[in-house]
Amino acid sequence: MSSIYLSGLGVSRGIATGPAHILAREQPAVSQQSLDKNEIAGEIKRFHKALKQASRQLHDIRKRIAKDTPEDIVVFIDTHLLMMEDPAFNEGVVQHIKSAACNAEWALHQQSERLIQVFEEMDDPYLKTRKDDVLHVVNRILKCLTGIDDTRLDELELKGHIIVADDLSPADTIMYQHQKIAGFITEFGGPLSHTAILARSLGIPAVVGLHHARQLIREGEILIVDGSQGTVVNSPDEASLRHYRKLRRKQEARRRQLGELSGKPAVSHDGVEISLHSNIDRPEDIRIVRKYDHTGIGLYRTEMLYIERNEWPDEATHFKTYKRAVSALKGKPLTIRTMDLGADKEIRDTLDHGPMAHNPAMGLRAIRRCLKQPQAFMPQLLAILRVSALGPVRLLIPMLTSVEEIQQLRGLLYEARAQLRKRRLAFDENLPVGAMIEVPSAALGCEAFARELDFLSIGTNDLIQYTLAIDRVDEEVNYLYNPAHPAVLKLIDMVIQAGARAGIPVSMCGEMASDARYTRLLLGMGLKAFSVQANALLEIKHIILNSHIEKLRKQVAPILALSHSHDIDHAIDALNASQEA
Ligand code: PEP
Ligand code: MG
Repeated sequence: MSSIYLSGLGVSRGIATGPAHILAREQPAVSQQSLDKNEIAGEIKRFHKALKQASRQLHDIRKRIAKDTPEDIVVFIDTHLLMMEDPAFNEGVVQHIKSAACNAEWALHQQSERLIQVFEEMDDPYLKTRKDDVLHVVNRILKCLTGIDDTRLDELELKGHIIVADDLSPADTIMYQHQKIAGFITEFGGPLSHTAILARSLGIPAVVGLHHARQLIREGEILIVDGSQGTVVNSPDEASLRHYRKLRRKQEARRRQLGELSGKPAVSHDGVEISLHSNIDRPEDIRIVRKYDHTGIGLYRTEMLYIERNEWPDEATHFKTYKRAVSALKGKPLTIRTMDLGADKEIRDTLDHGPMAHNPAMGLRAIRRCLKQPQAFMPQLLAILRVSALGPVRLLIPMLTSVEEIQQLRGLLYEARAQLRKRRLAFDENLPVGAMIEVPSAALGCEAFARELDFLSIGTNDLIQYTLAIDRVDEEVNYLYNPAHPAVLKLIDMVIQAGARAGIPVSMCGEMASDARYTRLLLGMGLKAFSVQANALLEIKHIILNSHIEKLRKQVAPILALSHSHDIDHAIDALNASQEA
């Protein structure tokens, strides 16, 4: 039989070879059944029983988690447990059973549809994929309701197999990790799905979004999974096997070579020290960062703190969480960004704040919301100020668009400091305050921003979205999303120059900073601080070590004068080739 090449989305690098194990799981069918009034109490009882059973299953899995399992995986399981135990979730189901006089399965299905809709409408690609959590939790409860038991998967002998599934939950992933499987293929999911995040963190090669994989692949067939290219080779011939074996050896050698850079300073070939930090969503992520390098955090997105709970976190919760991050960093810097929730990102009823925005990306998002609801914002400001007494902390504000907003923020900070003095609590009087430059008006106003603030951080994800009028999560216009668009480069250049003139640090924390293709371009533009995804740290460092910045500066100047993206792309290729190690 000849080899067949299938293609999906490579989300976790590495090459794996092994026999396929197809996961053909029973999906509970859900239909609406009407109940008599006297049956409702019994139905609610049945739902609670299923809920308890599902929660017991997860607790069992949690107990079996190996000691060396990355913290983020444990956090995923805890998130599912929290969701099950959350009254906003399960009370909604009970209410629906009562009001519609229907069966528990149907009420659960309706509740999940409602929650999924909320996630679907979210702007942030990471949060958008959190609808997977809802689906996994709902599925587990549904299976308990309908008596389907697939908790015995771990009794199968799967060592060295490639799992082919529709989708995998964090709990599945943990069970398979125990089995020492070689790789994953899923039909659904994107780069930010749980399977992807977990596979990366466990170092298991994975391809997701390979539609109809379970129809195209047969049980036991030998597969090659190339997690970098998103390729799956079905029944590989000898030549393909040889090719991928060679590739694997090369990748492993590269990983070892990059691994040696861990702990070394990021200094360019001509002696310029570059600050190379990482982005996190939770303090637990610092453990993942540590797997790559011992570095500080240039962007701590705090949204998860809000999303994972039922209400606005209080000052104590903020403080406890940030303190964990500061302790884990042991003296390395931490840049905490205040919350960037928008009207679209609300997932809990108790966080309700007015009607759904018509155009959420341009609505009451991030700092706008915080300034409008200072009482809700104050606990976060107070907590950030308090942790600034414990280590090198910086305060970063998202979505600022004008100097007036900065002044309003200053007013709130003034008030927060006064409160802390009154309470006799310590804080850093000189806590550096910076702005995300992620809206064109902020980039155009960067001179004034640089005068008012202590540092700037360029958020290219939003800056590109707003400059090019491209919704960053709309697949239809994805092809227009271009970090090297001349207008985007012009804005980035303005910000870097304004920072240099004002003598304040400018960093970049959007995805462009994690993309090795643009590292030399940015170095040549004068960028001296990068905050990147943990798994990009060493690759970006490798490029910095092998770059001559003075030469790059001369080469980059004419690129900034180009007006066609096509020409810019060619020039970037030439720039990279000219200094390739
Ligand atoms: C950005 O916009 O580039 C950024 C880093 O912020 P976020 O992705 O959280 O919007
Ligand atoms: Mg942003």
